[in-house]
Amino acid sequence: MRFDSPYDTDAHYCVKRDTAWSGYRAHLTETCDADRPEVVIHVATTIAPVQDGELTEQIHDDLADARLAPVERIVDAAYVTPARIERARRVHGITLLGPVVPDHSRQARSGDGFDKSAFAVDWDNEQAICPRGQTSQQWRPLRINGHDYIQIRFDKSTCLACSDRLHCTTSATRPRALALLPTRELHEIQTRNRADQQTEDWQQRYAIRAGIEATISQNVRACGLRRSRYRGLAGTHVQHVLTALACNLTRVADWIAQPAANRRRSTRFHSLCTATA
Ligand code: SF4
Repeated sequence: MRFDSPYDTDAHYCVKRDTAWSGYRAHLTETCDADRPEVVIHVATTIAPVQDGELTEQIHDDLADARLAPVERIVDAAYVTPARIERARRVHGITLLGPVVPDHSRQARSGDGFDKSAFAVDWDNEQAICPRGQTSQQWRPLRINGHDYIQIRFDKSTCLACSDRLHCTTSATRPRALALLPTRELHEIQTRNRADQQTEDWQQRYAIRAGIEATISQNVRACGLRRSRYRGLAGTHVQHVLTALACNLTRVADWIAQPAANRRRSTRFHSLCTATA
């Protein structure tokens, strides 16, 4: 981690996609109940290089401690993994809704290949059945970059003779292999989520997440969230909390001042999109 300022040794350099900055990272969690103003109920501040996903569990624990754990929490892809979905449900009874990483394998991208979802997995007998009805020959734990998987291999001679080989593997000499998440529950969460997130129902349910972008924008543009007024992580966190609190106050005040009929008024752009559709 690079130190960027002799005046603030907590401030570090970070790059996220095409944005580079030095300092901290803020995470806002807001309510999205119908017929209520959206208010920020949790603010987390970390040093900049801490990745978003590392905060998922802490935010859930904090919300539960404050008796604010939601039934459902909707987040972007950075905060979601099958393991985080499983923990949120098991520990706090929270449904964590967000897209898990899609299957990037060549077979999945081609559209007509045999990706992981084409294989039936028999966890009790530690075997997988391929779309050709062949049973795997090897099932063993595997560790890649600190993460646990189950590696499954099919019989080499069977795969070399298979007429569907081109749909299954690009290797000229090796049999088909699969790497699955290490437990049945995680594998099933991943498979189910990957299928669900392709559906219109799921995407409509997920669309409400976009609301937090407006909140972040208000905190950043109207209240200067991204300009630290204090040195150090602790002081910056206090600033982030006070900034979110100020935005909450303006939202609640606007909500009270506005006639009930106008509270969910659509924007002109949204009206134009609806009319065009
Ligand atoms: S290549 Fe092997 S694993 Fe793939 S479909 Fe054929 S027999 Fe099954």
